[in-house]
Amino acid sequence: MTYENDPVYQMAVKQLREVAALLQIPDDVVEVLAHPERLLRVKIPVRMDNGKIKVFFGWRSQHNSALGPYKGGVRYHINVSEGEVVALSMWMTWKNSLAGIPYGGGKGGVKVNPKELSPRELEELSRKYFHAISRIVGEDVDIPAPDVYTNPQTMAWFMDEYSSIVGYNAWGVVTAKPKELGGLYARIVSTGLGTAIVAREAAKKVWGGVEGRTVAVQGFGNVGIYAAKYLSEWGAKVVAVSDSKGAIYNPEGLNVEEVIKVKQETGRVQNYKGAKKFITNEELLELPVDILVPAAIEEVITKENADRIKAKVISEGANGPTTPEADIILRKKGAIVIPDILANAGGVIMSWIEWANNRMGNWLTEEQALERLEHKMVENFGRVYDEWQKRFYDHPMRTAAYALAVERVLKAMQLRGWI
Ligand code: GLU
Repeated sequence: MTYENDPVYQMAVKQLREVAALLQIPDDVVEVLAHPERLLRVKIPVRMDNGKIKVFFGWRSQHNSALGPYKGGVRYHINVSEGEVVALSMWMTWKNSLAGIPYGGGKGGVKVNPKELSPRELEELSRKYFHAISRIVGEDVDIPAPDVYTNPQTMAWFMDEYSSIVGYNAWGVVTAKPKELGGLYARIVSTGLGTAIVAREAAKKVWGGVEGRTVAVQGFGNVGIYAAKYLSEWGAKVVAVSDSKGAIYNPEGLNVEEVIKVKQETGRVQNYKGAKKFITNEELLELPVDILVPAAIEEVITKENADRIKAKVISEGANGPTTPEADIILRKKGAIVIPDILANAGGVIMSWIEWANNRMGNWLTEEQALERLEHKMVENFGRVYDEWQKRFYDHPMRTAAYALAVERVLKAMQLRGWI
């Protein structure tokens, strides 16, 4: 299957076409934006612990470089497809453009269930994947980072593999590295923190603040954990969280620190003792809460369930959790859906700070890095919110975010003579 037939890719193109129609962008230009500049598919033969070779496949999609080197994560997931990787690379172009950072958009993926691999097999897979894409990445060319089921250890292997090819310590070729290898601790919390910051800013508009507001978080990985942690620290009441095995609910509120501990020690939120009820991931989305944070996977809020969603503020920690049809239904209901390209940009913004820091010889402190992130997230939320109120009020907030993002990319392409 080519990427053009993939439903996630088609959703990304649909979002682009809708905003292009509003901005009166000609069809030929939309066609340029709808496809990646380069797409590489690689074979990754891994010698498994049982002595046999197993072949995996991976991709790197480089969508647009008008604003700078390609930037975006690499995910390891059994459902990764070429179309999903291309769609995610397009979303990175808009995310980086909207964030106002000097990057284009890229994304990578390997079709694998990393939980089935031993640490040694995982290291071999990671090194071989990076080796296979090494000719098209680089500190000023394409800068990968973690995504679903990849982490600072994966980045350390990527960085080491690349450094051994080029013959020097190429710190800047990946971001979200471990602290000892030029990373920032702040990068670990940054995506979830950013998702929490924009939820808090939206809560200020709706209720005057986030204190006492109820929150449900779908997905308790790196994004969901820190979104829940910060929102509860700021006085919100987190009543439900979930992971891929199920959800827990307590209308009186969960002890977030405790749930994080249980999740980290046992791998399942349902092992937490303070839940009133076990529910499904689908039920969690429809709970009577003020704020919903979908922080798991794509297409969980659809035209089938959008009508039953009660949250007034939805902060998209995941990429693509709301379909375009659901976005319109939620707009009609008066909900604010803070779009992924704004709500989960904290990760890549911190990646930019780390990358710049590496190139300056590690200049910034952790504290300064966090201050910059806070400042940028608040500023970006304000810009998109104002644009939405001024130009696109009848549309989902996503339309305003897309308009700002696409316009910046188009301007750069025009100046460079590409269109
Ligand atoms: N994978 C993250 C995202 O989807 C982070 C990308 C990065 O830091 O480059 O935004």
